[in-house]
Amino acid sequence: MISRPFGPAGTRVPVIGQGTWNVPARGAAADAAKAALRAGIERGMVHIDTAEMYGDGAAEELVGAAIAGLPRESLFIVSKVLPSNATLHGTVAACDRSLRRMGLDYLDCYLLHWRGTVPLRDTMRALEGLVAAGKIRSLGVSNFDVDDLKEAQSVLEREPIACNQVLYHLSERTIEDHELPYAREHDIATVAYTPFGRGAYERAPGYQTLVEIAQRRGATPAQVVLAFLTRDPGTFAIPKAAGVAHAAENAAAGDLRLAPDEIAAIDRAYPAGRRRGGLPSL
Ligand code: NAP
Repeated sequence: MISRPFGPAGTRVPVIGQGTWNVPARGAAADAAKAALRAGIERGMVHIDTAEMYGDGAAEELVGAAIAGLPRESLFIVSKVLPSNATLHGTVAACDRSLRRMGLDYLDCYLLHWRGTVPLRDTMRALEGLVAAGKIRSLGVSNFDVDDLKEAQSVLEREPIACNQVLYHLSERTIEDHELPYAREHDIATVAYTPFGRGAYERAPGYQTLVEIAQRRGATPAQVVLAFLTRDPGTFAIPKAAGVAHAAENAAAGDLRLAPDEIAAIDRAYPAGRRRGGLPSL
């Protein structure tokens, strides 16, 4: 699995991680999701993305069960605070709850899930306090456009922004015009969420191009998608898989590097298009 520096601290993180939105909370499906996370970790996908919002804490509990007993330093665990909790004190309390649900004493990165009505200054101050207290190793944001990033940077006093987690898939390439270049310039990791775009790539006219590249490379179209999204040095992707087969397939994409002509062919098959309005999110 290819890994690369994640943000200015330079911690090396595998390019493909694992999402946990909508993971089942109970029963056989939850057991399968837990096994998938574990299989993904064994195959190098140690970057696990979760949030207090997902299943009202149930996803974090599932992550806690999946990582129980594993060496902490081998994992890269990320969670997110809800904007409605992201006050000076609320952020700290939310982080404590997330840590408790996962049985952890620190997070590798803690993000503001999206920008709400709490002043950014308060949230950023709280996140810096959590770094100082050793409860999080780095801080980040999600669904931030360039203006939001600049504002967050302007109110941070000690810590840099490690990452911006954004919607990025073959039919939604808006970040490529502003957010991605800005992140590259400022050493901010760009983490692609919903990388499969709810299957949009399979229905798009360019799909045959993916199929042909996949066949030539002995890969699957889904793996080619992940390789394309992580072609840039500062980028990562966090697909979610409900079972071991998808987890294994996604992990193997972390070894696939596309040639410049393959990248150009996908670029033509799934054109980036023009920005319309603000930064898209889910
Ligand atoms: P996604 O990962 O793009 O897609 C998940 C879907 O793709 C599931 O139906 C899954 O099926 C399927 N899939 C997984 N691996 C596959 C493979 N190799 N081949 C074909 N299909 C495959 O969507 P997502 O869950 O929305 O996004 C990923 C993660 O990003 C989330 O789980 C969450 O952690 C994060 N996220 C963050 C935000 C934010 O605002 N920051 C928003 C949305 C998502 P199975 O489940 O059956 O395997």
